[in-house]
Amino acid sequence: MIIRFLVGFILTAFSQQVIAQCSIIPTPSSYLEVGGEHSLEKQISVVSTSLSKGNRDFLKEQLNNLFSIELITVKKKPTIQFLRSEKLNSSYEIHVGETIIITYKTDADAFYAIASLMQLIDEKAGVVTVKKCEISDSPQFQWRGLHLDVARHFFTVDEVKRYIDLMAFYKFNTFHWHLTDDQGWRIEIKQYPRLTEVGAYRDSTLVGHYNASPRVYEKKKYGGFYTQEEIKEVVAYAAQKYVTVVPEIELPGHARAAIAAYPELSCTEQFLPVPGLWGVFDDIFCSKPETVQFLKNVLDEVVELFPADYIHIGGDEAPKERWNHCEKCEKVISENGLADAHELQSYFIQQMDDYLTAKGKKIIGWDEILEGGLSTNAAVMSWRGEEGGIEAANQKHNVVMSPTTYCYFDYYQSGSADEPLAIGGFLPLEKVYNYSIVPKEITAIAKKYILGGQANLWTEYIEDFEQVEYMVYPRALALIQNLWSKNKVNYNDFLAVFSTYQEPLLQKMKVNYSRSVYLPELKISRTENGVEYTFVSKRNEELKLTKETNRFDMGIGLQIGELEGNSYESQRTIFQLEEGYSINLKSSFLPKPIKYTFKNHSGLGLPVQLITKPHPKYSTNGDLTLVDGVVGARPWKGDQWLGFNEKETEIIVDLPENNVTEITVGFLDAKGSWIYLPQSIVLLVEDENGVWKKSKEVFITEEYQKIDLSVKAKRLKFKVISIDEIPKGNEGAGFQPWTFIDEIIIK
Ligand SMILES: [Zn+2]
Repeated sequence: MIIRFLVGFILTAFSQQVIAQCSIIPTPSSYLEVGGEHSLEKQISVVSTSLSKGNRDFLKEQLNNLFSIELITVKKKPTIQFLRSEKLNSSYEIHVGETIIITYKTDADAFYAIASLMQLIDEKAGVVTVKKCEISDSPQFQWRGLHLDVARHFFTVDEVKRYIDLMAFYKFNTFHWHLTDDQGWRIEIKQYPRLTEVGAYRDSTLVGHYNASPRVYEKKKYGGFYTQEEIKEVVAYAAQKYVTVVPEIELPGHARAAIAAYPELSCTEQFLPVPGLWGVFDDIFCSKPETVQFLKNVLDEVVELFPADYIHIGGDEAPKERWNHCEKCEKVISENGLADAHELQSYFIQQMDDYLTAKGKKIIGWDEILEGGLSTNAAVMSWRGEEGGIEAANQKHNVVMSPTTYCYFDYYQSGSADEPLAIGGFLPLEKVYNYSIVPKEITAIAKKYILGGQANLWTEYIEDFEQVEYMVYPRALALIQNLWSKNKVNYNDFLAVFSTYQEPLLQKMKVNYSRSVYLPELKISRTENGVEYTFVSKRNEELKLTKETNRFDMGIGLQIGELEGNSYESQRTIFQLEEGYSINLKSSFLPKPIKYTFKNHSGLGLPVQLITKPHPKYSTNGDLTLVDGVVGARPWKGDQWLGFNEKETEIIVDLPENNVTEITVGFLDAKGSWIYLPQSIVLLVEDENGVWKKSKEVFITEEYQKIDLSVKAKRLKFKVISIDEIPKGNEGAGFQPWTFIDEIIIK
């Protein structure tokens, strides 16, 4: 007893719980440094009789690829020893002392222990060491997913394998393979060869953003598909890395590629090509029995290829336009006593649910499938926020959380003009990191239905695999902290671990990860005479700022000057000599200088009152946003703009004392994101009794609306009136459109 007590005492005296400095991501459940290092020779021996062949190969390959260490099978003094133990209280334990001892429960646990060990090894100047430590680890959630859309853009088998390699290395275990969509059918179905002969190829592809007008297309055949042999190869490959592949066959919407191959599957039965445009299309699978039978036949083949418990059947974004005007759909409605096309959607999903359930599978679908009731086995993927997930869990359905706000990796990671074109939305690393998988509002009983979560990568704007990696990393590292780690460290500690330990690893693995996290934060504040921009580095480094000026009085000439410090003040002046200017920022952590462009005008930093509050999601820097000299970027990257969702938006702007002749108000026209130009602006001026009187109304015709000013006033009130509703035939038809405003430029 005394001896044990003493040993315990010594251990605690010399060891330290320094979880924040643990190099492994996701952070393990416990980590204890015991002091000292274990250095690794270029050849090491391993006792691995309990390890599966796959895991032994994984260990060998990783040691070799990452650290040029060779595994040898000399038995006298092993460097690493693997032990399998069913009695372990955790998934695996790593003890680094004179020998490295790894104890694990299952083969998957051994795989994760090897991945962790790779992240413990440190290489400096050719010397390879491991800190002496004790680790114990188990995952928090069972569904740790990453999704890849191969329909909008196609990725080869090797690229898909690479995607799986990287996710497995970071302990993700579910690969959601989005195999069919409007723009391409990517899985061979033997019974229906035209699905891939015709449906896997499109003749043109949209260039630039969906919201651009006019739209431009590249007229080039584009496509590809996976044969059933290739699918089996990927599934087997993933299984070796303890990744389950969940296929998605989208229905009844997002079916244009299938309809192009077999027009009789739709309501109109007319030929339509595989579209090269993104979005939601009216032509979906008809609900008639023949189409349902077709889908069952397709699923027969799908089920054979994928051993996963779940088959994803989509279920989202299915407009009812065609169903509402189809005799065959009407017949299904009346024969089954359904009320309308919405109940028909549930009936449609239910048939798939029953069919797959009878085959021993479970369905999972986007949260729209909840609408009409589901079989007990069915699971829901909550993407339109967290409500669908909460509702499903309340109904005792398993749930995978994947809300757009935190899990859509096709959104922008920063507001930098250098980000590659993306669909829109703003999801920086920190936001992913601060996501909590279990919704706050959920009850304790419903909580246990949350299987986990996943990030989705839709590839409309992602043309090659380099960009796939750019969008996924490092955001996947932030997400896995939420999915795996029971002992998540704070964001700053995570960042430190990321840059110290994970970046060198990602570089060794040649991952094209995004460095956006190192962009300095741009803080804008009001000064007495304008606004001040301060660039705050996330690392203790000196930023180099140079200014490029565009001077009116000298024609278009460039002046380049170095700025001192990290701040720059922009003053509103009576005569604007400079229309605008750019500040170029150099940081040793960024591959190239970043350009920030600012606008000069007489309204910089003047008081603004937001009578109508912007939506909290789109409130950026509050009222200052409108007069901060940063003109909202197009396409919208999620910041810089104020977003309102009201019929009328009221804003009061103080005017400068000098003569104001013209005001320009910037609006965003991004119809695909439900953001529309408003109908008009009503200008009001205040009389001596403080009563606002209408001065003029201007109809909005363009994104930068110029207003000639003939009134003398100290303050102006803008009443921005939106259009009534999103017009028919557009995404979000019938809903209140969003109004996005920035900037109010005063001359
Ligand atoms: Zn129909």
